[in-house]
Amino acid sequence: MSHFIVIGAGQAGQSIVTTLRGQGFDGAITLIGDEPVPPYQRPPLSKAYLLGEMELDRLFLRPESYYADENITLRTDTKVTGIDPVAKTVSIGDEILSYDKLALTTGSAPRLLPSAIGGDLGGVYTMRTLADADAIGPEFREGASVLIVGGGYIGLEAAAVAAKKGLKVTLVEMADRILQRVASVETSDYFRALHKEHGVDLREGVGLVRLTGEGRVQAAELTDGTMLDVDFVIVGVGITPGTELAERAGLMLENGIKTDLHGATSNPDIFAAGDCASFPHEGAQIRLESVGNAIDQGAVVAKNMLEQGVTYVPKPWFWSDQYDVKLQIAGLSTGHDRILIREDEGTRSHWYYKDGQLIAIDAMNDPRGYMVAKRLIEGGKTADPAKVADPATDLKELMRG
Ligand SMILES: Cc1cc2nc3c(=O)[nH]c(=O)nc-3n(C[C@H](O)[C@H](O)[C@H](O)COP(=O)(O)OP(=O)(O)OC[C@H]3O[C@@H](n4cnc5c(N)ncnc54)[C@H](O)[C@@H]3O)c2cc1C
Repeated sequence: MSHFIVIGAGQAGQSIVTTLRGQGFDGAITLIGDEPVPPYQRPPLSKAYLLGEMELDRLFLRPESYYADENITLRTDTKVTGIDPVAKTVSIGDEILSYDKLALTTGSAPRLLPSAIGGDLGGVYTMRTLADADAIGPEFREGASVLIVGGGYIGLEAAAVAAKKGLKVTLVEMADRILQRVASVETSDYFRALHKEHGVDLREGVGLVRLTGEGRVQAAELTDGTMLDVDFVIVGVGITPGTELAERAGLMLENGIKTDLHGATSNPDIFAAGDCASFPHEGAQIRLESVGNAIDQGAVVAKNMLEQGVTYVPKPWFWSDQYDVKLQIAGLSTGHDRILIREDEGTRSHWYYKDGQLIAIDAMNDPRGYMVAKRLIEGGKTADPAKVADPATDLKELMRG
């Protein structure tokens, strides 16, 4: 009987094992993860779960009984320490397991602040795992002062939760603007205004010099010369893909574990998906750090482990919740040459065009605009910019072209 092993029990790993069984694979499946819990969704960690509005049970991707019912061996709290691609084995310390096909879904790790600038002081947190969220939760006490380092989605979501809970929030972003790496100037402007409205002291073009304190952080020195008293710090300065095992196994790396459009690595029996994996897109090896990518790429990998020859066609989508605003993104706005803004009764959306083609949307509390644009983008269609900008246009009309 063949044995498929999946290393990394997160969103992509779950998608692979579910798809394998869904496709009728009846061989052995082992899903191995180093966290002490079964696969769960991370997005609520900086949103509803951190706010205390979501129960732990609802984080898990499947009920615990699922794995036994589907005859999947789930090993939690278990770190894979090596891969031998010639012998086709993985090692967990001294234990050796043989595989026929292997998938790497090792995710990513948050970048840390160097200890030389106080990164290892108590009260300094990153936000990646359930354990991180559980450790930070008790710090969210009304009136406490939090410094958030990094104005990406995770930092901004944490700022929104903190402000909502009555904390004194300072957020510093070293780049000229928040969300610089991932969003347009217009979208950054929208979220800056939103946070300022909620009392967040948001400083762009300002970095951290150092954190100080005895054992535990007490103060922060910023590059604009400010000294802040802080009770705790959240660091959200990006992630690095989990490539360590792949690198040691001699697999090719390029912006993560390099895969082809079938999710295969440079070794044909080893696949990769999710945050750790890059794939070819418009002449580059790109990675998408999102749930949608982890699920879809995982499904493609599972099918190709079964030798179905399926090609991965990414359909990027993402969301973020901040205060009472739900941001929904479809497509990739990189390289846009035109933006149209549509505003109507509390909804707002930014429609991105490149060479006359609609390529992406950022929709703020505009689920209908999002759905219409997503369908157009995924269908390779466009929408007349004049009609998009006119709030009187019925969105359904855009679908008719
Ligand atoms: C706080 C937060 C909020 C987010 N919000 C959103 C959002 O709103 N929308 C969105 O689309 N995306 C969001 N994301 C991103 C999304 O959660 C990730 O893109 C997604 O989880 C990637 O799935 P993955 O399976 O690749 O990695 P992961 O879910 O991280 O799973 C990888 C797993 O592999 C384990 N692992 C690594 N190495 C080993 C080893 N050697 N042995 C065993 N196990 C190992 C890791 O510990 C981890 O459990 C958010 C992420 C975070 C952290």
